[in-house]
Amino acid sequence: MATHRYAPESLMMSFGYKPELSEGAIKTPIFQTSTFVFKTAEEGKAFFELAYGIRNKEQNEELGLIYSRINNPNLEILENRLCLWDEADDCAVFESGMSAISTILLEFLKPGDVLLFSEPVYGGTDHFIHHFLPKIGVEAIGFDANDSYEDIVARVQASGKADKVAMIYAETPANPTNAIIDIECCRKVADTFSTEEKEIFVAVDNTYMGPLWSHPLQLGADIVIYSATKYIGGHSDVIAGAVLGNSAVMQRVKVLRTFLGNMASPNTCWLLLRSLETLKVRMEQQMKNAKVVAQFLENHPKVERVHYLGLLEPGSKKYELYQKQYTAPGAMISFDIQGGEKQAFQFLNQLKLFKLAVSLGSTEGLAQHPASMTHIGVDAVTKQRMGITDKLVRLSIGVENSEDILWDIGQALDLVELSVETWSVALARL
Ligand SMILES: *Cc1c(COP(=O)(O)O)cnc(C)c1O
Repeated sequence: MATHRYAPESLMMSFGYKPELSEGAIKTPIFQTSTFVFKTAEEGKAFFELAYGIRNKEQNEELGLIYSRINNPNLEILENRLCLWDEADDCAVFESGMSAISTILLEFLKPGDVLLFSEPVYGGTDHFIHHFLPKIGVEAIGFDANDSYEDIVARVQASGKADKVAMIYAETPANPTNAIIDIECCRKVADTFSTEEKEIFVAVDNTYMGPLWSHPLQLGADIVIYSATKYIGGHSDVIAGAVLGNSAVMQRVKVLRTFLGNMASPNTCWLLLRSLETLKVRMEQQMKNAKVVAQFLENHPKVERVHYLGLLEPGSKKYELYQKQYTAPGAMISFDIQGGEKQAFQFLNQLKLFKLAVSLGSTEGLAQHPASMTHIGVDAVTKQRMGITDKLVRLSIGVENSEDILWDIGQALDLVELSVETWSVALARL
């Protein structure tokens, strides 16, 4: 028999769905139902035994459909398809990215534990770490893209809490600066502080690059997290999140999800199934456009600095890390405009094709001002240290025609008024 292994993009239209179970419908219908009818009481009992972990699965036994907080065909098919991109054992889809993140942190941390986390992280994650985790007695220690393995280990040892470290959480590339964190280094730190009794887990928020251009599980992470609102959803019409990992990790994640009740709805899952069919073509077009935009900004006198992985200098340490972790530079660009908030706002207010909105990864271009929008809650000192300044603008590049995108950015920059001092800096760059 001919064997052939399909690439994930070839399986996004059909994997895990059997038309014969749904009147031959070529596409998965929306299973808008709260509960499922058991054939017999014995069957219901068997399903519950598995769902509650009372016994292990028999060979070839699958968890039957019980109740849509536990499982639903739309949810299961979506999870099975997401597993293909990251080559994960299992996946859990949530009603939002934040829901995925908070569930992971609640499952793998307990009072007294220490979380090591990369900075900056998404504003919502940052808030959860700084304002919620202390309430349950979890302390957090930050590290950033410039810290080496030795720096991180030294910081943990200086805290006197090396035995309390329970999890390493990394967001890479970081939102909004595109700073990159070394996942293998996170693994090494986790292994350094793990003991016989305590395994330290490494979780990576792969929203910026996944699931196409980076596979953290292959680089040593235990858990990969997505805001599926972004590239996976990709059309600015759905909020969702996903977590992937090995079976043992995912068993714990799914049990907590069952009791928090924060799984995605059948309708949300159906929208994401539809989005997955075009995931690769969308992301590739976005990335091609982003390369052109980054080059344009790099040469523009009103732009001080562009933060884009495609502009890293070959041979530099960052470039080597980029090559190890990513297969493409992505489609998120940040740049420092000449001037400050005034100039950044003038630029944002003049955009015509781009929409002035937070979120990212969508088919349409989006632009925002991290310091006063997504990252307004980050404390001022950290913001400055991370480069989230008043002059930073973040662009999420869409699938539009690249000449139209350049025209829009160009005309908006033309209308930005520079002060006398910034003009001289800008002229010096010409
Ligand atoms: C948007 C985002 C989140 C939060 O996801 P929601 O779906 O909005 O809850 C988490 N991490 C990153 C990197 C994000 O961009």
